[in-house]
Amino acid sequence: MHKPKPNPVRIIKNLIILTGCVAAFFWMFFDILKRETVVSHDASVLVMGTNATFKPFEYKEGGQVVGFDVDLAREIAKELGAELKIEDMSFDGLLPALEGGRIDIAVAGMSVTEERAKNALFSEPYYQATQRIIVPEDSKIFNKSGLIGKKIGVQLGTTGDILASEIKGAKVIQFPAAPNVLRELASGRVDAVILDDAPATQYITAFTGLKVLSLPIGNESYAIAMKKSNHTLKEKIDQTINHMKEDGRMDALLRKYFGENR
Ligand code: GLN
Repeated sequence: MHKPKPNPVRIIKNLIILTGCVAAFFWMFFDILKRETVVSHDASVLVMGTNATFKPFEYKEGGQVVGFDVDLAREIAKELGAELKIEDMSFDGLLPALEGGRIDIAVAGMSVTEERAKNALFSEPYYQATQRIIVPEDSKIFNKSGLIGKKIGVQLGTTGDILASEIKGAKVIQFPAAPNVLRELASGRVDAVILDDAPATQYITAFTGLKVLSLPIGNESYAIAMKKSNHTLKEKIDQTINHMKEDGRMDALLRKYFGENR
């Protein structure tokens, strides 16, 4: 039997087909990657933006972002039939990221405020929080009026930051994350700190000589923020949150992160 002579035209034709297939494969592959980051266009991925320095709502454990908000977002993703992706960023970058379509939801112990609601959509609230003053144990500051004219440490862009900016004569010093603010207080570079109750109570244990004043200086509700136009997503998220409140999943989450006697 004799082997057919290689036909140069056929070889070139096959080469062209092969190159085409390879190009098509890469084009499809990068298109998938592209779609995964602009998630609002891809129903199979839900991108959560957060700032993982806010125990017990979001924090890092073994390189992973975990916490109450992560579990909550997982329940939502499950009901949407989507995969959850987490983007860890600065707290003050969350709302711009929503507007820019880089994330679908901001789940970050974010308090609902009128100002924020002008540019974002908020879900049903899922947690009631308070703002607290944290001071050294021997401090002469006992309440909000004690903060007048003092140096106050806050986390940049938070409701604590806004509260502090309204105090007469106070010098507000902004830090990127809650633990950093407490470190400044412990080393005496600020007189007091304003933070949300739960992270204040958790992070304070890493320092000696600090206390959280028991009188709250503000009441707030945490909710999930979405892009202003994303009404369909809000409807689905509200449904999940309401179901979770009804069927005990929300209580179970609270118990998991705050213990039995909350
Ligand atoms: N609840 C506060 C706010 O919404 C702080 C949130 C945070 O630091 N993650 O501004």
